[in-house]
Amino acid sequence: MTESLLSVRNLTTEFHLPDGRIARALEDVSFDVLPGQTIGLVGESGCGKTTTLMSVMRLLPASGRITAGHALFKGRDLMQLSEQQMRSVRWREMAIVFQGAMNALNPVMKVGDQIREPIELHNLMDRDAAEKRVGELLEMVGIQRSRRDQYPHQYSGGMRQRAMIAMALACSPSLLFADEPTTALDVMIQAQVLDLLKEIQKHLGLAIVMVTHDLGVVAEVCDSVVVMYGGKVAEYASADAIYNEPQHPYTRRLLASFPDLIRPSDTLASIPGTPPRLTDLPTGCRFHPRCDVKVEACDKETPVLKMIEEQSAEGGAIHCAACHLLHGEEAKFQ
Ligand code: SF4
Repeated sequence: MTESLLSVRNLTTEFHLPDGRIARALEDVSFDVLPGQTIGLVGESGCGKTTTLMSVMRLLPASGRITAGHALFKGRDLMQLSEQQMRSVRWREMAIVFQGAMNALNPVMKVGDQIREPIELHNLMDRDAAEKRVGELLEMVGIQRSRRDQYPHQYSGGMRQRAMIAMALACSPSLLFADEPTTALDVMIQAQVLDLLKEIQKHLGLAIVMVTHDLGVVAEVCDSVVVMYGGKVAEYASADAIYNEPQHPYTRRLLASFPDLIRPSDTLASIPGTPPRLTDLPTGCRFHPRCDVKVEACDKETPVLKMIEEQSAEGGAIHCAACHLLHGEEAKFQ
């Protein structure tokens, strides 16, 4: 069985708001990332996708606290590392492409200098070698070396996103987090950025954790999927199982509300209601106020993740979902 590169177990994160309230942003989130594979974290806004990335990278704002859980990366628990140890892991071993390339890039610094910065921060090579690497990285993401000395405003939206990807790859990490990497790009450029990520992944053997609300992106690039709702895992499975045998009512509604290019339909069924406020979560199943198949237990008892299919011998994702309508054993993560 393939060993996981990253094993997230029971990760629980809270935000302490200025008015004293506590937002329970994540609760008991578990999943595995295998080397060279792409896992998608999907769900509506505010379901905990970005907080999961920021918790694993230990980049939460001051109000955030990880109150429980582990994130084992290459056998080390990131939650137990000192800040200094964590700094040597970030960018060098795991890197992130942030949402909104224009805001993530420094507008008054040449793009090439920004790509060279993480290499210098980690003392990976001398200045000449670092400069050569900047040229290689620009080429790898399809930007001409001659544009190295330009500023972000001289780049198109797609080029800025490519530059962000080059920066994230500067120190040759084995894990890349991509937070909504195609949001705010037009459809053609989105497809190009996704193709680039797939190409780079194949070439470098990278593992990718992709945060997206776009199920089209998931279908295009992901091997496995974590569907999140109200800060918890609603369903976790291979991308194939999520598309062809979704078990959780929320996953089904999410799929029905998204245009299917393979089996187009005249109508799209939106999910009634809104996601829960994290400061005022519903009792029982967090989806119950919006669920059209709820039963008596749903507003009283919190459903546990139940195992639908065990992990395959190749180490693909298990299939589990948290719903009272499902029967079977509670899912156990190794
Ligand atoms: Fe719906 Fe109940 Fe299942 Fe939640 S536990 S998804 S409310 S049926």
